Amino acid sequence: MYQPKDSSKSPRYTGIRTFMRLENIATTENVDFVIVGIPFDTAASNRVGARYGPQHIRNFSVLLRPYNPDQEINIFEYCSGVDYGDLDVIPGNIHRTYENIVEGLSPIIKKRIVPIILGGDHSITLGNLRAFYKEYGPVALIHFDSHSDTWDHYYGEKYMHGTPFRRAVEEGLLDVKHSIQIGMRGPLYSPDDINDARKLGFEVLTMKDIRKLGENQIIHCIQQRVGKNRPVFVSFDIDFVDPSYAPGTGTPEVGGPTSYEALEFIRSLKGLNIVGFDLVEVLPDYDFGDITAAVASSVVFEMISLIALKKKELIELN
Ligand code: MN
Ligand code: MN
Repeated sequence: MYQPKDSSKSPRYTGIRTFMRLENIATTENVDFVIVGIPFDTAASNRVGARYGPQHIRNFSVLLRPYNPDQEINIFEYCSGVDYGDLDVIPGNIHRTYENIVEGLSPIIKKRIVPIILGGDHSITLGNLRAFYKEYGPVALIHFDSHSDTWDHYYGEKYMHGTPFRRAVEEGLLDVKHSIQIGMRGPLYSPDDINDARKLGFEVLTMKDIRKLGENQIIHCIQQRVGKNRPVFVSFDIDFVDPSYAPGTGTPEVGGPTSYEALEFIRSLKGLNIVGFDLVEVLPDYDFGDITAAVASSVVFEMISLIALKKKELIELN
């Protein structure tokens, strides 16, 4: 079992920074989850710098503790995990980076280990979904974001951080009938930006829907849409969270959920068959007092808690 260093024995600010002070080892033996960075950011349309996202999140994450009071679970009683390090990316070359992503993630996914992937800009998710497709076929998607990222192109480019989910549908990587996007808001180029996502087959719940229907109803919609056993990938763009809580990102949109609400949404995914996660678009240059890193590392903490809960459920069944 791989566990984080005990911060009640050695101070948290000591040592080399890995996620949550987990061991830095690229192994697929005796692990239930791995934290893996994909620091690629040259498909961003506005601010760049998300290549420094994984390290920024790791730096802050040393403050996390292993017991989750909201889910009533001590993570490392049930699961083992490591910080796998970062995959090699090629700055400025998205296609070769996609090849590296598929190659890098495949051995992890093949062993049914759950990767928690730290971006990078949102373009990396297309690579992630290609890797999952190889093992699972089309997966359902739960996508938290203030944008649908279903544009056809940007500056005439088909592979940008605003296009991965359209490409994923075109490539048949998604079980789109069971996929859902949550949190969309902010000014658009035209109504098509959202209508196109719906036309592609996604259920889209805007920020207005969240406020109108309430959190419980939204959670119900997600659970209904995805179903209990279907393999699902969770993609979390940090700009889903209101920029007053998470300013360190490339294309912030005001009028979003609080950090508390964001964590509640992740907690509510309990019981689903989640095969992988990513968290993207953390851009440290625009962060203040590490608050974005605080939100991001807590989101990852809730993701790990879901893996532990699933493991607990399995142990109790047997
Ligand atoms: Mn996005
Ligand atoms: Mn976004």
